[in-house]
Formats: sequence, structure tokens, C-alpha cells
Amino acid sequence: MDDTIVAISTATGNGGIGIIRMSGENCFKILNKIFVPKSKDNQVKGYSIKYGNIFNIEKEEVVDEVLVSYFIAPKSYTRENMCEINTHGGMIVEKKILELCTKNGAILATPGEFTKRAFLNGRIDLSQAEAIANLINSKTEKEAKESINQLEGALSNKIGEIEQKLLDIMVSIEVTIDYPEYDIDEVANIDELNDLMNVKCQLEKLFKSFNQGKIIRDGIKTVILGKPNVGKSSLLNAILKEDRAIVSSIEGTTRDTIEEFVNINGILLKLIDTAGIRKADNEIEKIGVDRSLKLSSEADLIIAIFDISNNLDSEDERILKIIKDKTAIVALNKVDINRENQDLESKIAKIKKPIIKISALESNGLEELYKNIERMFEISEIKSENTVLITEERHKNQIDKAIKDVEKSIDTIKNNVPVDISTIYIKQALEDLGEITGKNVSEDVINEIFKKFCLGK
Ligand code: GDP
Repeated sequence: MDDTIVAISTATGNGGIGIIRMSGENCFKILNKIFVPKSKDNQVKGYSIKYGNIFNIEKEEVVDEVLVSYFIAPKSYTRENMCEINTHGGMIVEKKILELCTKNGAILATPGEFTKRAFLNGRIDLSQAEAIANLINSKTEKEAKESINQLEGALSNKIGEIEQKLLDIMVSIEVTIDYPEYDIDEVANIDELNDLMNVKCQLEKLFKSFNQGKIIRDGIKTVILGKPNVGKSSLLNAILKEDRAIVSSIEGTTRDTIEEFVNINGILLKLIDTAGIRKADNEIEKIGVDRSLKLSSEADLIIAIFDISNNLDSEDERILKIIKDKTAIVALNKVDINRENQDLESKIAKIKKPIIKISALESNGLEELYKNIERMFEISEIKSENTVLITEERHKNQIDKAIKDVEKSIDTIKNNVPVDISTIYIKQALEDLGEITGKNVSEDVINEIFKKFCLGK
């Protein structure tokens, strides 16, 4: 990390200001060659700002009038000497200053390299670095909030607590190994067993939180299912028309789907719209159940629509069968025509899914729909401030490995296998967890993580 790195940290294009960021041992030496402060004070103080000009000495020209902020190691984002040059913005000026820095010895930073240095220099751990990437990419306030929690160390602390417990258990097992003459075997085993069970429980809780974490990050992947003419497109339009604002609308993974993000009380609903649902006015475009079926298998939630003004037919029955074992809400549509249909309702009640009555046409019943979604996905729990949530697939996988290793060590104790074998598994579990915070993690994993960052971060 001897190199001094430099990057334009603000987004490309014309802005009010542009920031060029430099970090490394020679940061101030390089700066001295291109920056002339107005005050003749040569002293460099941390957390201070100087006003002056960036000069191109070769061309004897002033490139821009700037403000430079100084950060002296270790009190900086990277823990190295750092400066940030605030320019008037604009691509030309920013590029010129960047070039001056590289000509004088700095090298161009790779994406995320500043944050990577913060990690390698021990200012933040790996899970905190990942939180920074998530924070930047947040689509809802809740997601941003969760990232801040993680950045502030909520996950790191939780993992640290569990690691400490595992270490304590190891120590107590090692006592048994070191002083076998004390014959404390049996008692110790019971204590250790309980402690290990407790650790397993905590890990499982974290593991389960991934589903909720995923909801915060990716939204609830929702498919509206129903035979033609039950009102799928009307419901979709009713949801999208609400004030809740579409976050964005992008082409789905397959060419004929569109993903519509809707922000419902702070939680993202990612509606998978088989292109055509929305064009449903045109009879030819009507899509059959089959096409939506494939999507349903990948959905977190199915909203199955039935027309309450008609009786169930074989296609409806087929849909009922499909959703039986899925996370689904049944919407009985067209209540403006018919509020009750006992035959239909009693048949549908058999599959024991939440049932709501709506009129997509009149936008009635949507609130009830949202309430049900909140209940099903335990959103109030997600919204509570105190729970630590896993949002990264990588973290989930490591926790899964740790659970399996803790289970193995529990089994060895239960089966009276020599206790030192169980410590091998506990050590392994510690290593699994260490990869989350980056205590022991391979170069490849680190590189993969920082690739997700933008340049200049
Ligand atoms: P899709 O084929 O499932 O997408 O169904 P559409 O949304 O295209 O609706 C089919 C027909 O039912 C259209 O004529 C809609 O106006 C009508 N429709 C949809 N929802 C309602 C409703 O809640 N009440 C009434 N009366 N008509 C509806």
C-alpha cells in the first residue's frame, strides 16, 4: 500500500462541485507540486481546509481555484494521509487535476480502493465495507437505515459476541483436556453442550433474518396469477397508480417481463409483470396461466386472483392447487358486481390462505392487501430497530457453515467422542465467522467484494 492513489469521487457530468480524492503516503508531497494555497502557511493540519489554486507548472497556467481538505493519518477514511480537492466541477477541470496528480506520482485508484484500504488498515471490517456499498445503492429509506446499522457495527458486534462465546467454550473444553485427573468430564460436557446449543440458536436466528434482510434489499418478488379476465392487469394498474410511487420499472430477466418496483410503507414490492398483463385490453395479448406459472415458482409471493362474480372453473381449480403450498394471498376481485359467492368462497377457504375482497376497477381493498403482505412477511418485525439482519448472501453462507460446524461439535460431545475432536469443529466455526468480518478471508473474496464499488469510493 505504498502507492498513493487518486480518483474523481463525484459522479461524472457537470455538478456544483467536483471532488478529487487522493490517499497514500506521498499524498501531501504530490499536492505540494500542484497546489498553491493563498495563505503562505505551509503547515499541514488534519481536518483543515485551505483555499488556493491548482497550477500546471509546465504550462504555467491556473487550472482551477479550489478548496483542499486535509486528513492526516490515521484520522482519515483510509487511515492514510488523504486530501480532497474541491473543484468548481465539470469534466475538463476534474480530468486535468487528475492528470496532474498522476503525472506527479499518484496512480489511478480501482473501484472501491479507498474503502478497501480502510478495511486493510483496520478502520472498518469487511461487513462494514459491504454496508457502505449497500448504502450507496439503497433504494428505500429502510435499506439505507439497515446499511447504516451494519456500517456502525451491529452485525460485527453480534458476530463478535458469538465468537467470544465459542472461544469461552473452547477454553472450558481445553481445561478438561489439560486436567483429566480432575474428572470434571461429565459436568463440563453438559455445560458445553448447553452453551453450544445456545450459540446454534443465535446463529439460526441470524440465518433466518436473511429472508427479511433480502426483502429489504431486493423487495418482495410478487407475481399476480389468474386466468384471463379475472382482473390481473386492472389490479396491477391500481397498485401502480397509487401515490406510493413507482420506484422504477426495468426489463426483467427474461425478455418478456417487466419488473415494477413499488414502495409500500417503506417496503419494496417487486411486481413481476409478464409483458402483456398491462396490454390486456387487447384480447390477442391475453396471456394464459402457463406463462405466469414459471414465474410463480420463483416468486416470494403470489397474489392469486379469482372473479367473485363467476363460479370457479377448471383453470381456477388448477391455480388453487398450485398456490396450496406457496406463500400466497387470494384476492377475490370484482366485489363491485358481487360481494358474496358462497360456493366459490367455501371452495377457496379450503386451501387456508389469507383471502381479501377487492375491486381492482374501483381500487378498493388495496389497503387490506398491503396489510396482509405486511403480516405475512413480518414487516413490523423488520421495521423494529433492534434486530440485526443479514442482508448479504455471502454472510448467510458463512453462517450456514458455522451452524453445521457447531452441530458437528455438539454431536461429538453427545456421542462421547474425545472432546478435543469437538474443539476442531469449534475452531472451524470460528473461521467460518471470521470470514464475515474479514479476519481470515482470501484475497479473491476481498477483490470480489470491492468490485461492487464505484470509482472514487
Ligand atoms: P386480466 O386478463 O386478468 O388482466 O383482466 P383485466 O384486468 O384485463 O380485466 C378483464 C375485464 O374485467 C376488464 O374489462 C376489466 O375492466 C374488468 N374488471 C377488472 N377488475 C374489475 C373489477 O374489480 N370490477 C369490475 N366490475 N370489472 C373489473
